[in-house]
Amino acid sequence: MKSVKVIGCGIIGLTTAIKLQEKGFKVTIIANEPFNKTLSSKVGAIWFPFEIHPKEKANKWASLTYKEYQSDEKEGNGVSFIPLITAYNHESNTDWIHQLPKGFVRKALPTELPKGIEKAHISIVPLAEPHLYLPYLFNQFIDNGGVLKKQKITSFNDASILNTLTVNCTGLGAKELCNDEDLQPMRGQILRCSKMDIASYADSTKKRSIKLFN
Ligand SMILES: Cc1cc2nc3c(=O)[nH]c(=O)nc-3n(C[C@H](O)[C@H](O)[C@H](O)COP(=O)(O)OP(=O)(O)OC[C@H]3O[C@@H](n4cnc5c(N)ncnc54)[C@H](O)[C@@H]3O)c2cc1C
Repeated sequence: MKSVKVIGCGIIGLTTAIKLQEKGFKVTIIANEPFNKTLSSKVGAIWFPFEIHPKEKANKWASLTYKEYQSDEKEGNGVSFIPLITAYNHESNTDWIHQLPKGFVRKALPTELPKGIEKAHISIVPLAEPHLYLPYLFNQFIDNGGVLKKQKITSFNDASILNTLTVNCTGLGAKELCNDEDLQPMRGQILRCSKMDIASYADSTKKRSIKLFN
């Protein structure tokens, strides 16, 4: 059996590790923090592939991911499908709606628009709640024979990955590991607010987006 090392234990590292196990690889994840301490454990986790580049690849990834979540929707694993209201105007990039399956997006009726919003799409999108979905992925990884090693990798010449097929899933950690000054976080803020009568909301009318969760 071929061995692979995956660096990183966030949603990308865990998903990559499981996909490799499904292809018959023996996988070790090396991470300097466990899944419940990663950035992935703290986020909104809504499928909303807005302004992700390169577009051609991102579109393909987006529709594949949507299908994966459709087949991964199980009681208690944190995956569900929710209505997402997305405000837009003439400046907005609405390309991402074309990656939705047919019939899963429509224009909001005037009566459905949140206060102050002129135009919006309502789509049905996957939500993968991290506090449930990450443990679900991690348990799957362990049940498949995966091994987790806690370690910080400081160089690709590190003895623990040298001469082993290695997949880099370090997220923003890649800035330091790959000495990549161009790597920087995109927008993303979560506001805790009082309950609203909408499941979720995203604004693509400005150079930022805000999601308000119930
Ligand atoms: C506020 C906010 C809201 C967001 N909302 C959404 C959303 O609704 N939908 C969406 O799709 N995305 C959203 N995102 C983006 C999304 O959260 C990230 O793209 C995603 O979590 C990145 O996952 P990851 O596995 O690549 O990285 P991380 O979760 O950061 O995991 C990186 C892993 O690599 C390990 N690591 C790093 N460097 C090293 C090293 N040198 N040696 C060993 N291990 C290392 C870390 O310990 C960790 O285990 C949001 C982001 C933020 C900040």
